[in-house]
Amino acid sequence: MPNLRALPWWQRAGFWCLPARCYFCDGRGDLGPLDLCGRCHRALPWLAVPRGSTAVISAFVYAAPVDTALKALKFAGDRAAARVLGALVAMAATRAIALERLRPPKLLVPAPLHPQRLADRGFNQAALLAMQIGRWLQRPVLRDGLVRTRATRPQTALSALERRHNVIGAFQLSASFTRQLASATHRGATLRSVALIDDVSTTGATLEAARAALLQAGVEDVQLWSVATAIPNHTIMPT
Ligand SMILES: [Zn+2]
Repeated sequence: MPNLRALPWWQRAGFWCLPARCYFCDGRGDLGPLDLCGRCHRALPWLAVPRGSTAVISAFVYAAPVDTALKALKFAGDRAAARVLGALVAMAATRAIALERLRPPKLLVPAPLHPQRLADRGFNQAALLAMQIGRWLQRPVLRDGLVRTRATRPQTALSALERRHNVIGAFQLSASFTRQLASATHRGATLRSVALIDDVSTTGATLEAARAALLQAGVEDVQLWSVATAIPNHTIMPT
């Protein structure tokens, strides 16, 4: 059960004015401002143990009905899916941080799309998620903090090793993020902790590549948050 008392008052107040509807079954939501009902919440494919040892946090196994919601988010930019999945990632991350005694991130940065793919699709699903997670956790989101420096092949068709090679060096910090870090350092402050946000992690190769760029730039602690983790041979991934 999510901890609804952690919500700011206006989100709790909003619930009383406009009762939530469950994203998955379209029934009445009965979990406060979440677009979710208790029955669907219990039936979601939760990961039993947060993968806290490497600071990779996923809420779910990539399975029904989360897979369908993720496809609606990725291919149609479904804002309702982003809202409910973002809230659930925020809760899973809060729980994992408390359990594993991780450092709460100061900033959320979405995994970037290559500019060409962003232009074709018109949105970055990781950014839609990050905005929702940031709203829920009251954390700032730097939408364009990372950029892809080259187009990469879709990860879904590749082996684990090929995925790592496919994305090595594919990310760098944006000019605005670099300036922000430089100015923080100049003031004697450091941006210690950042959470990278993505929709699905498979081998984690994409997020690891982005993480390498952030660590190289002086961010001390990078967590990787995703909605779902794909388990090999159990999952058919969208391309
Ligand atoms: Zn439901």
